[in-house]
Amino acid sequence: MCVVAQTPYRSSALILYMSNSSIRDGFLSGSANGVPSVNRLLATLPKNEYKRLLPKLKIVNLVLGEVLYEPGNVINYVYFPNDSIISLISELSKTSWLEVGMVGNEGMAGLAVFMGVGFSPTRCLVQGSGSAMRMSSGAVRKEANRLGNFHRLLHRYSHSLLTQVSQSAACNRFHLVDARLARWLLMTNDRLGVEEFPLTQAFLSTMLGVRREGVSKAAGALQVGKLIRYSRGVITILNRRGLEAKSCRCYAIIKAETEAYLN
Ligand SMILES: [Zn+2]
Repeated sequence: MCVVAQTPYRSSALILYMSNSSIRDGFLSGSANGVPSVNRLLATLPKNEYKRLLPKLKIVNLVLGEVLYEPGNVINYVYFPNDSIISLISELSKTSWLEVGMVGNEGMAGLAVFMGVGFSPTRCLVQGSGSAMRMSSGAVRKEANRLGNFHRLLHRYSHSLLTQVSQSAACNRFHLVDARLARWLLMTNDRLGVEEFPLTQAFLSTMLGVRREGVSKAAGALQVGKLIRYSRGVITILNRRGLEAKSCRCYAIIKAETEAYLN
């Protein structure tokens, strides 16, 4: 079961708006037997394999601030986001957290189950409200043991996520905050498909692992360059190409790896 977060994040004003048309279109293009799916990992499965999985998938709504697992929690369910985003967050101290990975419609939260580990190494926090397909950990193990396309895709996704996490680690250590902010906004934009979303500095501070002053300065720099507008806690992406140019190359590396695994 999902555990409602008792964390400072829950009071965050972050609300990530969804595009109804993109969800509807995605549902149509990714549906089988009338059951919606816009999760790209599931949509990549051959039809017969996807149909076999359908009875084991349940669509659930994930709410901003919900904690799906805390570090060390038993993973009872995995989640394939449709139009929601889940952050993988590492605990550095009792009061200090840092996002080390992001799972959207390209992947699955709870990957440890596939790797043969029943416990979550990170906090999995819903960063953007929306729907996801939920599957029990037992069903994941059973399906993976068939050694079919589901197994193959999860293997490839594991590599993709590892690339994202390792690239993010290097990025957090060496790249400038405004470049990292640009990367984070692009990755969020890719998964939500919308250019405008409310976002608090407190939340971004945790996502980027910098003080609020650093977030404010970085957002200010992007705003001066007319790449974004940041007003009253709402970020609007004004110039996506400019944001790509401002981002460190980590964005392109992570995106290329994601597209490669899905193709
Ligand atoms: Zn970087």
